[in-house]
Amino acid sequence: MTLFRGNVLDTPTSPFTGGSLRSHDDCGLLVRSGVIAARGPFEVLRAEHPDEPVLDLREGLLLPGMVDTHVHFPQVRVIGGLGLPLLDWLDRCALPEEMRLAEADYARSVARDFVAGLVDAGTTTALVFGAHYASAVDSMFEAADQWGLRVTTGLVTSDRLLPEPLLTTAERAHSESLDLATRWHGKGRLRYAVTPRFSLSASEAVLEACAAVMSEVPGSWFTSHVNENVHEIREVAALFDGAAYVDTYDRFGLVTPRSVLAHDVHPTDAELATLAERGAAVAHCPTSNAALGSGLFPLRRHVEAGVRVALGSDVGAGTGFSLFKEGLQAYFVQQLLGPAGMPLTSAHLLWLCTGAGADALGLAQDVGDLSVGKQFDAIWLLPEPGDPLAVGLANASSPDDALSKVFALGTSSDVGGVWVGGDQIASGRWRLPLHP
Ligand SMILES: [Zn+2]
Repeated sequence: MTLFRGNVLDTPTSPFTGGSLRSHDDCGLLVRSGVIAARGPFEVLRAEHPDEPVLDLREGLLLPGMVDTHVHFPQVRVIGGLGLPLLDWLDRCALPEEMRLAEADYARSVARDFVAGLVDAGTTTALVFGAHYASAVDSMFEAADQWGLRVTTGLVTSDRLLPEPLLTTAERAHSESLDLATRWHGKGRLRYAVTPRFSLSASEAVLEACAAVMSEVPGSWFTSHVNENVHEIREVAALFDGAAYVDTYDRFGLVTPRSVLAHDVHPTDAELATLAERGAAVAHCPTSNAALGSGLFPLRRHVEAGVRVALGSDVGAGTGFSLFKEGLQAYFVQQLLGPAGMPLTSAHLLWLCTGAGADALGLAQDVGDLSVGKQFDAIWLLPEPGDPLAVGLANASSPDDALSKVFALGTSSDVGGVWVGGDQIASGRWRLPLHP
């Protein structure tokens, strides 16, 4: 057992439904077998457990581990390709790189870069958009397993409109997906995600195969893209007899409480109603939406329709792994929407980066905040002395204000330690070797 001592900020209840920031200075968290066994004033816990080792993290802040609900593993090396709309960016930046992952050694090195990026950013749980090659997806699972991250991922499938080396058939997609799920689903902290790239590049036959894998792999997850770009939406409608984008998945039974659809920048009211009715979640990826000029995310319409929303970095169209940056950009977008926007507090932003993602991934019983009974998935923020974030935190007027400064100024380099299930997996400041 370890007794962690620190200044803890978390959001056990959604601020969208009345929750608020929970702040606890000099908090004690007693962690046994990776689970938070007790929480309270440090001195009280210390008196009850005088012999347990103490890890004193009072300098800085202790937050729940970040949950990224949309991030592409094969795109870590193409982050920063600015100046293009979605379909051009795919053709010129993303897809040429994704084809390189056919080569197993290359894919393995990309997986290492990718997982290091997640860990450094304090992301402890992620729904990872995989690769088009089964061997590359194996590399992703291996890397996540080695680091002990909570990762849900799978084979990306497409059978049209992409470069030929990225295409598969419905039969092959089905059998390779099942093979991968047999190897990895339920191993440690790993789960399988059925992942058609988007219905633009996935025919009815591939979507049917996806539905078959969903039913043959109990507890598997579903993820894809939806309503990202107006041109893309028109192309999808043309391929599916004018169907709404959400319906192209829904007609195959792929929109469920275990579905996370990325973007949804341009939904119709009917699509929002479908998402809410099915209990599906949306991964909002604000830096990606801005970088590709996709649009301003209608958060208020999602919330009012009862659609669950969490955050995704959407690396590599998104501009980095840090969910602090995504939270800040989400805040900017709502400000820019004026009266149609939804004003967000720092507590909303923390919820979107933690509890909302845990909920979208069906992991809310285990992670998302630092309550008793949850896994100790946590990050320690420790800005360099004199850094603007350190100055801001030292002069914050309240815990909510301190958290606003974290979102305004925080970066991956402020993450001083990361724990998953009680195990420390990296220490940003002191950089443990990248490959354990
Ligand atoms: Zn994406």
